[in-house]
Amino acid sequence: MNSLQTVVVVGAGVAGVRAIQSMRSSGFNGHLTLVGGEAGLPYDRPPLSKDFLLDESVAADITLLSSEDLDTLGVEYLSGVRVERLDPAERVLHADGGLRLPFDGAVLCPGASPRRLSCPGTELAGVRYLRTLDDAVAIRSLLSAGRRMIVVGGGFIGVEAAVLAAGLGLDVTVVDIQEMPFQVLLGRQAADLLLRHLRKAGVKFVGGRVVASFEGLDKLTTVTLNDGSRIDADLALVGIGAAPDVAWLAGTAVLSSDGIEADEFCRTAIDGVYAAGDACRWLNLAYGSPMRVEHWTNAIDQATAAAANLTCELAGEAHSRTPYRAVPYFWSSQGAMLVQFVGVRPAGCEGEMERSLQDENRWAITYRDQRGSLVGALAVNWPARAVRARKDIRSRVLTAD
Ligand SMILES: Cc1cc2nc3c(=O)[nH]c(=O)nc-3n(C[C@H](O)[C@H](O)[C@H](O)COP(=O)(O)OP(=O)(O)OC[C@H]3O[C@@H](n4cnc5c(N)ncnc54)[C@H](O)[C@@H]3O)c2cc1C
Repeated sequence: MNSLQTVVVVGAGVAGVRAIQSMRSSGFNGHLTLVGGEAGLPYDRPPLSKDFLLDESVAADITLLSSEDLDTLGVEYLSGVRVERLDPAERVLHADGGLRLPFDGAVLCPGASPRRLSCPGTELAGVRYLRTLDDAVAIRSLLSAGRRMIVVGGGFIGVEAAVLAAGLGLDVTVVDIQEMPFQVLLGRQAADLLLRHLRKAGVKFVGGRVVASFEGLDKLTTVTLNDGSRIDADLALVGIGAAPDVAWLAGTAVLSSDGIEADEFCRTAIDGVYAAGDACRWLNLAYGSPMRVEHWTNAIDQATAAAANLTCELAGEAHSRTPYRAVPYFWSSQGAMLVQFVGVRPAGCEGEMERSLQDENRWAITYRDQRGSLVGALAVNWPARAVRARKDIRSRVLTAD
């Protein structure tokens, strides 16, 4: 390993942080720079739609790395600096304020940004998105009992926040284009059960509708839906998904139509340039096809693999690289309910219901392929079932040729 080599990691989310840790643990002893577009120390996102909205003191616990950790790792951290352009020919990343960052290797971990609604009124005070610490701080200050909140989009982040806000005494309505939340992802059977839980938690749900406009003078007061119905609201949380944050890579060979394109080693079309996390679509040999996954566990595992593979390449040992194979996994906490999903759901598969004999609040839905093999599982309040399914699916999918 050449100690004069330079590696730049772009993006200081969980993938970027894990990438620098993995560079060091896999033996890279050259110059390492972490560039983070947000000011402050790197932090973790999952708590932002959960405990953090309830309790300010959680802020201290979501920091991923302290300044001392960065010193110990020997990492130069450029906080609040955005990379604006990648020049593959010169092997330079150009950042804010004319900063030039030449590199021998790079790991691109820019993550994703919320998809924006384009209907009238999105500029009104009270219409919010939730991705960053600043977003969460702003939303938390608006969560007081008696307020009326509308959550646009019944995805996991929106539903987590909705349940939490209802628990705080807000009048909360979730509006989703699907008839039931999670229907496309998990099927009707699972969606129906999750909807019941949502209602039990005090959240109203309006399915099959989209927002036509947000209205108010300068602050939000009313939301009009596409069927003409109106809902009074002081706060709207828009959670309609996220898109890879890759505009700054326009014109380079690393882009696909869905984020940064990488091979089975998480390497892009440019030598020595790897990618990981929410923005990376890589060839997942576990399924024999490209995949992009927006879950925390994947960001960690993929960044670990990408950085280890880059270290091999920089050491002239590209033959030692290991393909990154993964079975998708995520969890979500909706109030006291823990939802875990592992694997994939075959299109149209409704799955089989399982209930725990010990506890009626524990249930699971398992999804099988045409040969009857377990390929996906949803487990609710039943971590042991999720672990068992994960083990089963991984043992088959990760070892298959
Ligand atoms: C509110 C919320 C709750 C979540 N809850 C869960 C959960 O319960 N379970 C689960 O599995 N997953 C959850 N996730 C998803 C999980 O947090 C993400 O999968 C994970 O954060 C992805 O990490 P990342 O590093 O790829 O991207 P990010 O976390 O998005 O980090 C990317 C960073 O790169 C920076 N950046 C982007 N472009 C540039 C540039 N050009 N120059 C410099 N910096 C740049 C961004 O500002 C950002 O700070 C949640 C996400 C959110 C937002």
